[in-house]
Amino acid sequence: MLELQNVHTYYGNIHALKGISLEIKSGEIITLIGANGAGKSTTLMSICGVVPPRSGEILFRGECITQKSPDHIVALGVCQVPEGRHIFPQLTVQENLDMGAFLRTDKEEIKHDLEYVFSLFPILAERRAQAGGTLSGGEQQMLAMSRALMARPQLLLLDEPSMGLAPLIIRQIFEIIKKINQEQDTTIFLVEQNANQALHIADRGYVIENGAITISDSAENLLANPDVQKAYLGI
Ligand code: ATP
Repeated sequence: MLELQNVHTYYGNIHALKGISLEIKSGEIITLIGANGAGKSTTLMSICGVVPPRSGEILFRGECITQKSPDHIVALGVCQVPEGRHIFPQLTVQENLDMGAFLRTDKEEIKHDLEYVFSLFPILAERRAQAGGTLSGGEQQMLAMSRALMARPQLLLLDEPSMGLAPLIIRQIFEIIKKINQEQDTTIFLVEQNANQALHIADRGYVIENGAITISDSAENLLANPDVQKAYLGI
């Protein structure tokens, strides 16, 4: 579904991604784990066209999207839930969800998807008239994920969904990521510092260090890898 070939991305003179190559197959949950500043968010920003690579190629379903605009990439079916959520704080929960379906015209299907996200996160149905900015951190994460789902993405990019949340909410969010993958047939690329939880729901994973992929393996093998355990799992 997605392939990155030798991607180099810069912020001015800062060489953030130094030849990233990875692939995601349809239906997989893939996680990218790494320390602060390793280049996880930049990888997602490069895929969705916000920080386009200076060289290398990104293919989505065989189409080169390397220099395409973010709105074009969203229209193709790639949706990102950015770090920090970035919901519209002044808009209500319902209006935030409507924004997610902005590019769609299939009214009946939109209604169906709205019911689906409310079934995943019943609290959002209760809060549908409440301003997004007044929700708790966990509820904002739920809203950000739901807004992305309203675009009905084929590939969902999640940037640190567990950041700043209580352990109980984190567990719930990870269970729902798995559910979305299974029930909606949505392929998921999950960027996380919480490597343990991410690897427990992922099929495969990549480790990124200082802008380069250093390890690629099944989630099971990564969980058992002594280097990964020491650096990312606190074992
Ligand atoms: P974190 O887990 O802390 O979010 P990350 O793995 O997502 O880290 P990135 O945010 O991708 O890392 O950052 C990769 C490198 O690029 C870092 O050295 C960072 O300082 C740099 N960087 C990121 N954004 C910018 C920017 N807007 N301008 C300049 N440098 C940036």
